Amino acid sequence: MIDFGYAPLKINIHDLDKADLSLMDWITARDESFRLCIACGSCTATCTAGNFTNFSFRELCHSIRRGEVEKAVRESEKCMLCGKCTLVCPRNVNTRNIIKLVRKANQNFRV
Ligand code: SF4
Ligand code: SF4
Repeated sequence: MIDFGYAPLKINIHDLDKADLSLMDWITARDESFRLCIACGSCTATCTAGNFTNFSFRELCHSIRRGEVEKAVRESEKCMLCGKCTLVCPRNVNTRNIIKLVRKANQNFRV
């Protein structure tokens, strides 16, 4: 491997081969639109809950894809289900349904 004189901090490395992607698979099986997210951030820019908290749907998607299940479930509780993100999403991701699925997963999945 080439030594560039710097390397990412271990804490910032996400090894997807070791990540628990079962939540992502569970959600995608129930709402295929989850696959369409391109992380553009439009949802986060318009988010009502984001005005009052540090909630970000875009970040929630990243957490799901990284296998950070507990974080995703915890963050999903901040959403007010107002639906603005669904209106602005350029990829027609069913954002509210994804959030509801994450919450449902907390009750029915892995427990
Ligand atoms: S607006 Fe849609 S495509 Fe963009 S980050 Fe949000 S969910 Fe993903
Ligand atoms: S539905 Fe939730 S994530 Fe979407 S804009 Fe409203 S508060 Fe934000």
